[in-house]
Order: sequence, then C-alpha cells, then structure tokens
Amino acid sequence: MKQDFKKNEHYIIDITDIGVNGEGIGKVNGFTFFVDGTLPGEKAEIIATKIKKGYGYGRLVNIIAASPDRIEPMCPVAGKCGGCSLQHLSYPAQLVYKTEKVRQNLARIGGFCDIGVSLAIGTHQPFRYRNKAQYPVAFADNGIVYGFYANHSHRVVPCEDCAINSAENKPILEAIKAFAVKYGLDVYDEEKHCGLLRHIVIKNGFHTGETMVCLVINSDSFEYEKELAAALSVFESVKSIYLSFNTKNTNVIMGDKNKLISGKDTVTDTIGELRFNISPLSFFQVNPIQTEKLYSTVLEFADLNGSETVIDAYCGIGTISLFLAKRAKKVYGVEIVSEAVDAARQNALLNKIENAEFFAGRAEDIVPMLYEKNAVRADVVVVDPPRKGCDENLLKLIEDMLPQKVVYVSCDSATLARDLKILCSKSYSIKKVQPVDMFPQTVHVECVVLMSRVKD
Ligand code: SAH
Repeated sequence: MKQDFKKNEHYIIDITDIGVNGEGIGKVNGFTFFVDGTLPGEKAEIIATKIKKGYGYGRLVNIIAASPDRIEPMCPVAGKCGGCSLQHLSYPAQLVYKTEKVRQNLARIGGFCDIGVSLAIGTHQPFRYRNKAQYPVAFADNGIVYGFYANHSHRVVPCEDCAINSAENKPILEAIKAFAVKYGLDVYDEEKHCGLLRHIVIKNGFHTGETMVCLVINSDSFEYEKELAAALSVFESVKSIYLSFNTKNTNVIMGDKNKLISGKDTVTDTIGELRFNISPLSFFQVNPIQTEKLYSTVLEFADLNGSETVIDAYCGIGTISLFLAKRAKKVYGVEIVSEAVDAARQNALLNKIENAEFFAGRAEDIVPMLYEKNAVRADVVVVDPPRKGCDENLLKLIEDMLPQKVVYVSCDSATLARDLKILCSKSYSIKKVQPVDMFPQTVHVECVVLMSRVKD
C-alpha cells in the first residue's frame, strides 16, 4: 500500500547510506529521506521537514539503534553551526567515508570503475588544526556574540571555542568583546547595512606561534586604534594587529583597505623547510600539518630528479611551486590573483629559491603562451584548481604539450572526475589516487592524482 508522507509527522527509518554532504540516507516504506546527523546502519526516529515529489528531508529526533562508528561530538554546536557535519562519526570512519566519496565520484562521473583509491591520509590532530578563523559578530539577548553561520544562512550560531580552531583564539575573542563593550561599539546588521563590528579574523602561524588579529569594521576610520592595540598587547603571541575597513554591502569578509595598527605587517609560518609570510588577504592552506603531507604526496608523485621543467598551474602564493623547485631544474607558477603572484615571488626570495618564476593571469591563457611563445616544454604539469576544476582549454593544451606526468590536486572529486575523463580519453592513464584529509570533521576531501602519458 502506498503511504502518504506529511510534513511534521514522525517516522522510523533505517539509514543505509551517506550522501556527499554527510547526510544519512534511508527509506521509509520505499520512500527516500535525507537526514542530517544519522549514519548508515542506524535506526532512527525522524520528523519530516520537507516532502518533495520522490523524496523528503527529515530532522533527527532520536537514535533507536546507533552505528558502532557513532561518537559523541566534541563541540556543543556540532550539527547547528554550518562547519563540521561529521563530528558524530569516528575519525577512522571519516577517512573511509572520504576515500569512498572519491572512489564513487571517479566511477560515476569519470567512468573509472577499476581504479584503486588509497585510503585517505589522516592526521594525528583531527581537532584544533585550522590556522585561520573568521568569526562573524552579532548581537543576542546576552549582548555581543561571535561564532559561525548556520548552514545555508547568515544566522550566527554563537561559539566561543570552536573545536577545529586554535584554543588561543578564545581569550583573544573575549578581550575584543570586553573592548567593544567598554567603548560602546555596536555590531554590524547585515540586513540594515549599519553598525560597526563585522568580523574578527585570526590567523595563527602554526609552527611559529605568531598570531595576526584583524578586526573588520563597517567604517572608513576608527577612533580607538590605540586602545584596541593596548587591549590585545597582553597576548604575547599576537604579533600583528590590523583593522580592515569594509563598508560594502557584501558577503566578502575582508575590506579592500587594511591598516596595520600594531606590530609586524605579516606573520610567518613554515611548511616543511620553507617559510611563508602571511598577510591579511593572502591565501594560505588552513591545515598546516596536512598541507605538508599533501605537498609531500605531490612531490612523491612528480618523482623529480633535478633535470625537469615543471609547470604549477593555479599556484596561489607559490607553495607547491617552491616545494617542487628544490628538486626540479625550473618551475613556472601561474596564478590569476596578482597579489598572490607578488607573494609567491617574495616567498621565493625569502627561501632563496632562484629557479621558480611566477606569472599572473589565467592558467588557460598563460600556459599556452609559455608553450607557444616561450617554447616551454614541461616534463611535469601540476594543477591545483578551485572547486570548479580546470578550464577545458588548459586540458587541451596539456594534451598538446604532452608532459610525461600530470599531477592533479583537487578539492572537489566531482570536477576532478570530469577532468580526468578528458585527459584519459587518449593521452594519459591514471597511476595513483591518494586522498588527503585536510579538513577533519567536515565532508571536504582533497585528492592527489598521478597520471602518466600513455606510450604510443
Ligand atoms: N596551489 C595553491 C593554491 C590552490 S587554490 C596552494 O596549495 O596553496 C587555487 C588557486 O587557483 C587560487 O589561488 C585561485 O586564485 C587560483 N585560480 C583560480 N582560477 C584560476 C585560473 N583560471 N587561472 C589561474 N589561477 C586560478
């Protein structure tokens, strides 16, 4: 008998699968529900929150039979804030989930059904791993709060001590809150586009202990600069204090104008033997422990002997390029954000690396230019594109240039699978697939793929 499902009704469900966003998937009398916070193998009571034509969404009310992989989340706001959606899953099981996600995308989207995917490389530090935190500031019944946005919304879920961010951030946030109360500063209201305090951004040099604090305000000026510097001077680790002026009605957190009000203009961190200077706007991988493993995997896959020419497309501030430069004859880094290219050049100087050259522009324009005008013939091409994957013109150019190896670093295994399908249609074959867990407790997974040229 066909059952009619209704919103707000309670149902008992057997969860059989887990989706790409970490949601449990199961059926009630053949009707599929997606339920956040549930795991495969669990029986649960849910309340239907949305019924669509062929499927529905439910909210977990009660776990009737728990999965052996279920653990108590570390953070009191897990499942409420939009950050960690896997805190209820044990860490070893998270690694299996991420490996499986990559395997399934390669099979379903890329058609690579027989490719072996190594178990995701995990970390000994699945909490407190992030070196950068951005806390929106809001106003609640009990005064100023800071925390994180709820899933798919801009409602701030107060969180004083996020379990994946540095433990050092909490006293800094408290000091800023006390400072704001003392000087009667108000809080930015996104809807009305008024009020002062927007975000608090904290960057920690993981290996150096140096911290940068940046207060983002909805104003062009600030009358309490000295007082803010004094309030934060009690923290020995805080080496750099900025104001970021952001008066735009935008989701972008940082303003275009950033003013150093105390300390050094950058904080330093290291990845392996390399040093990097971090500024308020520069992109730097957020999990330093795993970044080293990620880059070491790239280096292992590239297997350089010192005679090679390498192109690192989508190079950011040149981190992978500089990692590779020590073992290559020459590395060309290509990046669209010109400030990042400036930082890459400075990082090369800082590390006394002379065989890396950086170009600003779109990889799909610059790499063809290097090939056609500068006669660059790469032995290895590394690509590390954003979530949307590589531009097709870049993939075509790789097919023309035919480097011996292509190492693809991806933060989205769906677009990775799409791009691999193109590269492996004639000239390349996949040799190794190694996921790396850069973002424990979340559903995100980074992946490194080695392709070599098919012999003709
Ligand atoms: N490899 C770097 C950065 C990877 S993030 C690291 O490990 O830190 C992806 C980078 O690609 C970003 O820096 C982004 O600015 C850049 N990017 C995005 N589209 C691009 C394009 N079409 N051409 C070149 N770079 C691009």
